[in-house]
Amino acid sequence: MIQPKLIIHGGAWNIPDEYVEDHIRGVEKAINTTYPKLEVGMSALDAVEFAVRILEEDPTYDAGRGAFLNEAGEVELDAIIMDGKTLNFGAVAALQNILHPVSVARKVMDETEHCLLVGDGALSFAKKMNFEELPPESLLTERELAFFKSIKNKETFKTHHPFEFEPRDTVGAVAMDRDGNFAVATSTGGTARKLRGRVGDSPIVGGGAYADNEAGAVSATGWGESIMKVVLCKRVCDHFFNQSAMEAAEEGIQYLKKRVNGLGGVIGINAKGEYSFAFNTRRMARGYVQNGKTIVSIEK
Ligand code: ASP
Repeated sequence: MIQPKLIIHGGAWNIPDEYVEDHIRGVEKAINTTYPKLEVGMSALDAVEFAVRILEEDPTYDAGRGAFLNEAGEVELDAIIMDGKTLNFGAVAALQNILHPVSVARKVMDETEHCLLVGDGALSFAKKMNFEELPPESLLTERELAFFKSIKNKETFKTHHPFEFEPRDTVGAVAMDRDGNFAVATSTGGTARKLRGRVGDSPIVGGGAYADNEAGAVSATGWGESIMKVVLCKRVCDHFFNQSAMEAAEEGIQYLKKRVNGLGGVIGINAKGEYSFAFNTRRMARGYVQNGKTIVSIEK
């Protein structure tokens, strides 16, 4: 029997000192709640969904509750889940008023013949699948409202600035289960003051996530417009074939920087079950389980 693997991220940004503890605590909780389930046979697919739901509930992160607001002051969420065994995936984008977009993405994968639903259509589908439609305020936090007001009319503001200056974080999980199957899930509120309807890398297959049992699986976080352009997670998965797990992640981040001046980070597990991560932001909250021990770090 294979020893399962789990790696989780809580975003790659310029996370300031006062937020470090919350970021570590959230990632640790998601790992320590999810990993024991993988050990007793939970599938990789169920595990990544389960872990990401924990992080979507936590207002620390830019996913589910606590997400960034768009230019109209609304929360619009993107998420993806992918099965490395079949290459099936489900994704949602610009979804409003739902706490767990990752679970809606899972339903898209399991219950429809499609892969990606957006906006109103995604919301109608979620309601049909019995997800509760919440009032918009319930996903909005005081912190995000205050931040939104502070940047609302700032002419010099660009959506990628928060990656250098402000702390908010997409979340992601990559797992390998006891049967050797891989899965990945990524969930986000996107970027601050994004245009209505803007979709980032997170729900784009190969961009914000990729899983293929033959290679491994990867989840990304960072400035979506740069990550999408280099199809970052697929790139790292491809490099798993000819580089070590850590080298492949590093290669992806270096290419992101060199080619499109991108910012962000990746986590992954290669087909041999080796962990992989790299980032070029100041910090990235991430954690994994190695020899029964949970290792969480945020610094380089
Ligand atoms: N990649 C996400 C996006 O651009 C944001 C993040 O990872 O924090 O939508």
